[in-house]
Amino acid sequence: MQINWEQRFARRTQRMRSSAIRELLKATEQPGTISFAGGLPAPETFPVEKIAATTQRILQTAGPQSLQYSATEGYRPLRELIARRISQPGLELSLDNVLITSGSQQGLDLLGKVLIDPGDRILVESPTYMGMFQSWNTYEPEYIAVPSDEQGLITDSGALEKALQQRPKFLYVLPNFQNPTGITLTMERRRQLLELASRYDVPIVEDDPYSQLRYTGEPLPSLISLAGRAVEQGGPYDGNVIYLGTFSKVLAPGLRLGWVVASPTLIRKLVQAKQGDDLHAPTFSQMIAYEIVREGFLEEHVPFLCQTYRERRDIMLAEMEEYFPENTHWTRPDGGMFLWVTLPEEMDATKVLLEASAQRVTFVPGSRFHADDRGANTFRLSFSNPSPEKIREGIARLGRALHKMMP
Ligand code: PMP
Repeated sequence: MQINWEQRFARRTQRMRSSAIRELLKATEQPGTISFAGGLPAPETFPVEKIAATTQRILQTAGPQSLQYSATEGYRPLRELIARRISQPGLELSLDNVLITSGSQQGLDLLGKVLIDPGDRILVESPTYMGMFQSWNTYEPEYIAVPSDEQGLITDSGALEKALQQRPKFLYVLPNFQNPTGITLTMERRRQLLELASRYDVPIVEDDPYSQLRYTGEPLPSLISLAGRAVEQGGPYDGNVIYLGTFSKVLAPGLRLGWVVASPTLIRKLVQAKQGDDLHAPTFSQMIAYEIVREGFLEEHVPFLCQTYRERRDIMLAEMEEYFPENTHWTRPDGGMFLWVTLPEEMDATKVLLEASAQRVTFVPGSRFHADDRGANTFRLSFSNPSPEKIREGIARLGRALHKMMP
């Protein structure tokens, strides 16, 4: 007799869908297709030799330790290093504020696990990071989408305040070079957001994988650093902002290393949740990342990444100017890996994707990044992974597809 698995899946799996990113990544495997879909780093930037040399050294000097189980909280020297790197005047972080996760994606999942009861309201930007829905849908929340514009989440229209009045569990925001739009939250809105969230007692989850990848303009302070300054007593940070960081975009995503910075009380609960998940982030990866970062490697590597990605962004923007139809609009991000295209209202980006696939170029349709059905006439382009030549060719192909589909 054959078991009907569909009937045995838990109720909470009903909102699990296979990732559009993954489906689209499959398309990139077809020869000749140029993908602007996934947010993959450029593989030629991975410091392969540096990692090989460091790995060799670790195996020689601390082989058994690096291959052994280790603490759920993370490799202590790495946690200390992250606490030191994020600390600044007014934001004192200790070891107790830091949990190392298997990528920041796991940070999202653990937060869902310990904070979300079915029916809880979560405030999100519209659009927002698709992978968040995949993590949190399992915990059956309701999303309240707060609109955003070219300055990020709109803080002064009354919509945010009205949403905060609905007693959400927390608010999820990506202040720097947002995935999917590439937009950065302005300083004024950062302050407004913090002020409103604190007035209504709503914690903020600040997801920040991209802030180091800035190509133009001046860096802005993180929400956690602004909130940290507002916490009066000394001692470890105990504010209402939860900060997620990762080595995926500045070192290598295959290491699967991210971190959560939060109040020690929340960190302790996340540690319990993580124990049931995967015991700890890979000891081996943590030791490699620690050695590399400790030596100051990122200080030379990040400028190199910025130079590589700045060039790709500029080429993509210039080619879009040349090949895209007049009535399309797009963001001009100061950093990160993405930009966001808006088509005329009546157009459907999913239909454009079919035509684009026929021309062997792909992207992610915008509706996937919304809690509701909005954004049908939008899509996300990633410029980090394809070479400059591929970007030129891919945008020319996409331009042809767009012209063909224009009403
Ligand atoms: N948050 C955002 C906004 C992201 O764009 C990504 C990666 N695409 C993640 C979290 C997860 O990254 P990782 O697990 O590799 O750290």
